[in-house]
Amino acid sequence: MKDLDHRYWKFHELYSDGEKIPRKLKKELLGPRWSKSKIRKMIKSLKVNYRRPDQRHLAAIILPFEFCPYCGCTETFGVDHEISYPDVWIESFCLRCREKVGEADNSTFSHVLEYLYEENLEQSARRTV
Ligand SMILES: [Zn+2]
Repeated sequence: MKDLDHRYWKFHELYSDGEKIPRKLKKELLGPRWSKSKIRKMIKSLKVNYRRPDQRHLAAIILPFEFCPYCGCTETFGVDHEISYPDVWIESFCLRCREKVGEADNSTFSHVLEYLYEENLEQSARRTV
Protein backbone atom coordinates (compact mmCIF):
# COMPACT_ATOMS: atom_id res chain seq x y z
CA MET A 1 0.00 0.00 0.00
CA LYS A 2 1.27 3.36 -0.97
CA ASP A 3 1.74 6.13 1.55
CA LEU A 4 -0.91 8.71 1.11
CA ASP A 5 0.19 12.21 1.87
CA HIS A 6 -1.75 15.40 2.05
CA ARG A 7 -1.19 16.19 -1.62
CA TYR A 8 -2.98 13.02 -2.55
CA TRP A 9 -5.96 13.98 -0.47
CA LYS A 10 -5.93 17.44 -1.95
CA PHE A 11 -6.22 15.75 -5.31
CA HIS A 12 -9.17 13.71 -4.15
CA GLU A 13 -10.81 16.77 -2.77
CA LEU A 14 -10.41 18.73 -6.01
CA TYR A 15 -11.80 15.88 -8.05
CA SER A 16 -14.82 15.40 -5.90
CA ASP A 17 -15.52 19.10 -6.25
CA GLY A 18 -15.33 18.64 -10.03
CA GLU A 19 -12.39 20.98 -10.40
CA LYS A 20 -9.73 20.70 -13.04
CA ILE A 21 -6.37 19.56 -11.73
CA PRO A 22 -3.39 21.62 -12.89
CA ARG A 23 -1.23 19.55 -15.20
CA LYS A 24 1.89 20.10 -13.15
CA LEU A 25 0.26 18.82 -9.99
CA LYS A 26 -1.07 15.82 -11.86
CA LYS A 27 2.36 14.94 -13.08
CA GLU A 28 3.86 15.45 -9.67
CA LEU A 29 1.32 13.20 -7.99
CA LEU A 30 0.77 10.54 -10.61
CA GLY A 31 4.02 10.49 -12.53
CA PRO A 32 4.25 10.66 -16.30
CA ARG A 33 1.50 9.15 -18.40
CA TRP A 34 2.42 5.78 -19.88
CA SER A 35 3.01 5.49 -23.59
CA LYS A 36 0.53 3.49 -25.68
CA SER A 37 3.12 0.79 -26.27
CA LYS A 38 3.89 0.46 -22.58
CA ILE A 39 0.18 0.10 -21.82
CA ARG A 40 -0.13 -2.59 -24.52
CA LYS A 41 2.86 -4.43 -23.12
CA MET A 42 1.53 -4.28 -19.57
CA ILE A 43 -1.87 -5.58 -20.68
CA LYS A 44 -0.17 -8.47 -22.50
CA SER A 45 1.79 -9.45 -19.40
CA LEU A 46 -1.17 -9.36 -17.02
CA LYS A 47 -1.95 -12.16 -14.65
CA VAL A 48 -5.14 -12.51 -12.70
CA ASN A 49 -5.35 -14.83 -9.74
CA TYR A 50 -8.77 -15.88 -8.65
CA ARG A 51 -8.11 -17.20 -5.18
CA ARG A 52 -9.57 -20.62 -5.83
CA PRO A 53 -12.19 -21.72 -8.33
CA ASP A 54 -14.74 -21.99 -5.53
CA GLN A 55 -13.82 -18.54 -4.23
CA ARG A 56 -14.44 -16.64 -7.36
CA HIS A 57 -16.87 -14.41 -5.56
CA LEU A 58 -13.84 -12.90 -3.83
CA ALA A 59 -12.11 -10.10 -5.61
CA ALA A 60 -9.40 -11.20 -7.99
CA ILE A 61 -5.75 -10.37 -7.46
CA ILE A 62 -4.29 -8.61 -10.45
CA LEU A 63 -0.55 -8.98 -11.04
CA PRO A 64 1.82 -7.26 -11.16
CA PHE A 65 -0.60 -4.55 -9.99
CA GLU A 66 -3.82 -2.83 -10.94
CA PHE A 67 -3.58 0.00 -13.40
CA CYS A 68 -5.78 1.97 -15.71
CA PRO A 69 -5.67 0.43 -19.22
CA TYR A 70 -6.42 3.83 -20.74
CA CYS A 71 -3.53 5.85 -19.32
CA GLY A 72 -1.49 3.60 -17.01
CA CYS A 73 -2.33 5.41 -13.80
CA THR A 74 -2.44 3.26 -10.67
CA GLU A 75 -4.48 5.58 -8.50
CA THR A 76 -8.23 5.44 -8.37
CA PHE A 77 -11.06 7.04 -6.54
CA GLY A 78 -14.18 5.19 -5.57
CA VAL A 79 -17.79 6.21 -5.63
CA ASP A 80 -20.14 4.36 -3.35
CA HIS A 81 -23.66 5.03 -4.56
CA GLU A 82 -24.94 4.04 -1.15
CA ILE A 83 -28.01 2.29 -2.40
CA SER A 84 -29.93 0.46 0.26
CA TYR A 85 -28.75 -2.75 1.81
CA PRO A 86 -28.33 -5.53 0.66
CA ASP A 87 -27.76 -4.01 -2.75
CA VAL A 88 -24.27 -2.85 -3.62
CA TRP A 89 -23.15 -0.44 -6.28
CA ILE A 90 -19.61 0.83 -6.10
CA GLU A 91 -17.66 2.25 -8.99
CA SER A 92 -13.97 2.96 -9.26
CA PHE A 93 -12.50 5.58 -11.56
CA CYS A 94 -8.99 6.36 -12.70
CA LEU A 95 -7.68 9.37 -10.87
CA ARG A 96 -5.92 10.74 -13.93
CA CYS A 97 -8.22 10.16 -16.90
CA ARG A 98 -11.43 9.47 -14.97
CA GLU A 99 -12.34 6.43 -17.00
CA LYS A 100 -14.22 3.76 -15.09
CA VAL A 101 -11.79 1.00 -14.12
CA GLY A 102 -13.93 -1.18 -11.91
CA GLU A 103 -17.34 -1.84 -10.52
CA ALA A 104 -19.25 -3.89 -8.01
CA ASP A 105 -22.89 -3.99 -9.03
CA ASN A 106 -24.51 -6.44 -6.65
CA SER A 107 -21.47 -8.58 -7.30
CA THR A 108 -17.82 -8.94 -6.49
CA PHE A 109 -15.76 -5.97 -7.43
CA SER A 110 -14.27 -6.49 -10.87
CA HIS A 111 -11.52 -4.50 -12.43
CA VAL A 112 -11.59 -3.81 -16.16
CA LEU A 113 -8.19 -5.56 -16.41
CA GLU A 114 -9.88 -8.86 -15.57
CA TYR A 115 -11.83 -8.65 -18.82
CA LEU A 116 -8.72 -7.74 -20.78
CA TYR A 117 -6.90 -10.67 -19.22
CA GLU A 118 -9.68 -13.03 -20.25
CA GLU A 119 -9.53 -11.62 -23.77
CA ASN A 120 -5.78 -12.31 -23.80
CA LEU A 121 -6.44 -15.91 -22.80
CA GLU A 122 -9.06 -16.35 -25.49
CA GLN A 123 -6.76 -14.92 -28.10
CA SER A 124 -3.86 -17.18 -27.21
CA ALA A 125 -6.20 -20.18 -27.06
CA ARG A 126 -7.33 -19.37 -30.60
CA ARG A 127 -3.72 -19.12 -31.74
CA THR A 128 -2.84 -22.58 -30.48
CA VAL A 129 -5.84 -24.30 -32.09
ZN1 LIG B 1 -6.59 6.43 -16.59
